[in-house]
Amino acid sequence: MTTIREKDFIQSVADAFQFISYYHPADYIRSLHEAYEREASPAAKDAMAQILINSRMSAEGHRPMCQDTGIAIAFVRVGMEVRWDTKRSLQQLVDEGVRRAYTDRDNPLRASVLADPDGKRVNTKDNTPAVVHVELVPGDKVDVIVAAKGGGSENKSKFAMLLPNDSIVDWVLSVVPTMGADWCPPGILSLGIGGTPEKAMLLAKWGMMDPINLHELVARGPQTRSEELRLELYEKVNALGIGAQGLGGLSTVLDVKVNDWPTHAASKPVALLPNCAATRHVHFVLDGSGPARLDPPSLDDWPKLALDFGSSRRVDLDALTRADVASWKSGERLLLSGKLLTGRDAAHKRLTEMIARGETLPVDFTNRFIYYVGPVDAVRDEAVGPAGPTTSSRMDRFTDTMLAKTGLIGMVGKSERGPAAIESIRKHGAVYCIAVGGAAYLVSKSIRASKVLAFADLGMEAIYEFEVKDMPVTVAVDAQGNAVHKTGPAEWRARIGKIPVVTA
Ligand code: SF4
Repeated sequence: MTTIREKDFIQSVADAFQFISYYHPADYIRSLHEAYEREASPAAKDAMAQILINSRMSAEGHRPMCQDTGIAIAFVRVGMEVRWDTKRSLQQLVDEGVRRAYTDRDNPLRASVLADPDGKRVNTKDNTPAVVHVELVPGDKVDVIVAAKGGGSENKSKFAMLLPNDSIVDWVLSVVPTMGADWCPPGILSLGIGGTPEKAMLLAKWGMMDPINLHELVARGPQTRSEELRLELYEKVNALGIGAQGLGGLSTVLDVKVNDWPTHAASKPVALLPNCAATRHVHFVLDGSGPARLDPPSLDDWPKLALDFGSSRRVDLDALTRADVASWKSGERLLLSGKLLTGRDAAHKRLTEMIARGETLPVDFTNRFIYYVGPVDAVRDEAVGPAGPTTSSRMDRFTDTMLAKTGLIGMVGKSERGPAAIESIRKHGAVYCIAVGGAAYLVSKSIRASKVLAFADLGMEAIYEFEVKDMPVTVAVDAQGNAVHKTGPAEWRARIGKIPVVTA
């Protein structure tokens, strides 16, 4: 009989969430680097370079790779011969570990979890509670996988109850284009097939914790239906041409995982979950001898890459006019310097409500750019913690009001905009740019100063003014309404292959 002490379990969970905030798994780095080497689309290659460089910087600096440090998930497999030296529940033990990790003084992580999700949506401040899955298994050890899943990729989770003879490949190829770039590809798609709806979801979530090993499957050949499906989907999803950050390119997925379970004769439940550029999970085993020891990867695991901004247009944000931005072209790379406002969901909601009531806004947006971001708190000499872009389409509903009523001329975020937002951008002669999702620490290095201008009570969702120097972005929607997330994937889909794309 093994005894697991409370303090060892809590310490292990806390250490694990800190560890995954700044260390990518080595298999992800290797696989992304291979995709980078193969990539023929310059825009996608540049995005992958930023993710790889960001990853190395995070590993060296022990700061989060992404500003969205995720919702905490734990899969705990408890041996049936294990005894616990604690009066707390397993949920409470995991939560205590999460609390310690997310409020760590040296590397505070962003608390993103809100209680009362369909009501007041109040931040719990320490990212608890975690989502804990427990299984009793034979043995005398406790086997734990922790993961931190970002909202952008979780929001793109898909589920369907297919008919028994429906094609899973057709279904996947119909839904992946609708996911756009919000899940920050390239990453992993994980499928759970069979069981019941909740079982399919759990199979998919479990599967994404496996190492990336598609190359091994290619080398030895598929032996089961699941393995055939992995290969077929890997090839066909990449042939969609979505590419890194949805800019168009050869690599949308680095691996496809498929796990199945027997199901009812009348059913074929299927879940599809993406894992993003911030792939964060680690596995440890407790045997009663003390807390887990997590082995850091070697810095040699990261390629040594340098960014090339030679062809980028330098932009002075403090002297911009609508006429200036009108000449920028979709796909063009920029380096922004000067004063950049920030704001995301809560600030936009409040601003548009104030506009509707005819109130004066606390910030003058005339000829300004706004960055959709919710940064991690700063430590030591940082102006701001990791501060990558958040999903812009959540701001689509506010965009026309902001462009029509405030004098705003530009936005920076991640992934594509919807048709109404694109039309509004065109109508008002504004622009929308993207920074690379999953390159938050790299982006934060171009932010030299930060101060809160309004809505301080919103915390990381307040309106800040950043002073930026050479912040790399790409024009995603230009003032003529041309959108790189439409043209890029279409171009690369045509170049890659001839497979028909089924639309949902
Ligand atoms: S990489 Fe993208 S989807 Fe993943 S956590 Fe970061 S912002 Fe969210």
